[in-house]
Formats: sequence, structure tokens, C-alpha cells
Amino acid sequence: MYIFNQEKKRLEPTETKCQYCGVEHSIHMEHNHFIPLYKEADRTNIIVYRSVKFKKIPVGIPRCKSCLLIHLRAETKAARIAWGVAVSIVVLTFLIWGLWGIFSIFAGIFIGFGGADFLQDKLVRDKGIYTKLEGAKQNEAVQDLIISGWSFSQPTA
Ligand SMILES: [Zn+2]
Repeated sequence: MYIFNQEKKRLEPTETKCQYCGVEHSIHMEHNHFIPLYKEADRTNIIVYRSVKFKKIPVGIPRCKSCLLIHLRAETKAARIAWGVAVSIVVLTFLIWGLWGIFSIFAGIFIGFGGADFLQDKLVRDKGIYTKLEGAKQNEAVQDLIISGWSFSQPTA
């Protein structure tokens, strides 16, 4: 069961069983993970609430405090490691090849963002729980929205 929160314009779960570990319960609405789902404006099945149409709606996935902390710590740690490596590589290439090192900046950005995402998922899985996206994919409300054409990524154009 989900309730539409008019003020925050999001779907809040009434279910509290954590969908990341499947053991604990969510004790606070803000501990839940809100994942945005998107939909093209000219399609049908858009969520309509008091004649307002939504193209983007955050859906709350029940999450316990322990899983919240695992997600947060993994995010911070992954970003620190990935960007640390990225910056070191850029600095090193400048030291070795001088100005040609400028090309490594692109590689650095790629390593920073890509590495952070990859590491974050790995750190979360190492703790034995689902990643933010994996947990969301198990969620019935999310699955229903996906079936009716909503998506995890923002529609282009
Ligand atoms: Zn949990």
C-alpha cells in the first residue's frame, strides 16, 4: 500500500519491512529510499492526483536504519576512493607527459563517476544487502509502474 504525500509529491509506503535486508523494519519515513520514476508526458497511465499530472514521481522503498547507513557509507567511501584514484591518474600523467596529460582528464572523469557507482554497488553487496536499485526493482509498486511504462531513467527529448 502506498499513500500519496501531497506536500512532498511522492508515494510513501505503508509497509515497513525493509526491502534491502528483508529482516528489519523501517522506523522513519525519511529512512526509506525514494527512487524517482519517470514517464513521458504525452503517454497515458500518468499518475493523476487532483488533476495534476506527474512526469516524475519518487516512490519510497521501505528501508531500515541499518541498511540506510550501509547505503550512505558505501556512497561516501566509493566516491572518496574513485575520485582519489582518478585525481592521482590525472596528476601522474601530467607529471609523465606534461601538457598531454590534459587528455587524461576525460579518463579521470570517467573513472571518477564510473568507479564510484561500481564500488558503491560492490560495497553494498559485500554487506549482504541489496543496492538501492536492486531493492527498488523487487518492489511491487515500482514493478507495477514499470509495467505501465514508467522508467528509472529520465526520458530524453
Ligand atoms: Zn534493512
